[in-house]
Amino acid sequence: MSNITVCARFRPLSSKERRDHGDAVCIQYVDSETFIFKDEKAEELTFSFDRVFYDKSEQIDVYRHLAQPIVRDALNAVNGTIITFGQTGAGKTYSMEGPGVLECDAVKKGLLSRVVEGIFECTKSSDETSKYSIKLSMVEIYMEKVRDLFDLSRDNIQIKETKTQGIMLNGMMEMTIKDPQEALLTLSKGIANRAVGETQMNIASSRSHCVYMFTIQQESTKDKRARTGKLNLVDLAGSEKVEKTGAEGRVLEEAKTINKSLSALGNVINALTCGPMGRGNHIPYRDSKLTRILQDALGGNSRTALLCCCSPSPTNSSETLSTLRFGARAK
Ligand code: ADP
Ligand code: MG
Repeated sequence: MSNITVCARFRPLSSKERRDHGDAVCIQYVDSETFIFKDEKAEELTFSFDRVFYDKSEQIDVYRHLAQPIVRDALNAVNGTIITFGQTGAGKTYSMEGPGVLECDAVKKGLLSRVVEGIFECTKSSDETSKYSIKLSMVEIYMEKVRDLFDLSRDNIQIKETKTQGIMLNGMMEMTIKDPQEALLTLSKGIANRAVGETQMNIASSRSHCVYMFTIQQESTKDKRARTGKLNLVDLAGSEKVEKTGAEGRVLEEAKTINKSLSALGNVINALTCGPMGRGNHIPYRDSKLTRILQDALGGNSRTALLCCCSPSPTNSSETLSTLRFGARAK
């Protein structure tokens, strides 16, 4: 089985999309893995993914198929990364956070809350032979600068690699979390900080990547041997192209930087899935901060899940097509 799972998710039509185009959608259901996409010229393209979540899919379906196996592995010291990709407004943050990480709605809560529950359920039910310690960090990557969301004064974190611990972010805050409530409160503080920092710097959150990092250390009570699993959740910047005409200054620079890091991510995933096996295969992790941070939880023995978030409306079909192509290339 491949270490990369690629799924597509279509959110329900928004009220604006309904106003503009009624109930029209650019996709046609085939089954839980396949659908037909109609492009702007009404040409039909068939896409298949490991799973397709249609508008009536529930957050729990996404968790079960995409995240749960990766959470279980992370508790056994296998690193993993869960990524949401797509244009702004396509449902990345909704999939990740739900209506909000402190929102307890059992149906609507997102991947983050469910991952937190999954982690603590497993640690609780583990027998007496191991002791777990869970840490959480959150960073934002904007214009290739890494900022600590638990301490906004650390706004240019450097990435280094060590033999024993793999990729390290120099001076990044690590919050120890003891239970799910504490984890959700800590997450919500990081999310609130993100908004504060962005208001100060006048950036839209859709223009930066947000990385949630869980470090799960498992220590054997018998021989005190410790093993660590890293689990990253990544809410990417919007993948939409900016209008070539009109965009200038910072907007254009932002767009170029985002484009570069998303291409770097695509290239890394592609090299992992398609490249020749063995040592000769160069994986271009160093081409962006994003891929560098994810390096030891992307590829190798680690597991990756990519959720391609899409609007179902014909209004957005050209962006939807490029999101689907990104996903198809990752398989
Ligand atoms: P993104 O993070 O990709 O920019 P959002 O997650 O913020 O997009 O989603 C845009 C809007 O669509 C939000 O109002 C969100 O609540 C809504 N939305 C997205 N996905 C779903 C879904 N699966 N079900 C219901 N509403 C959704
Ligand atoms: Mg978002």
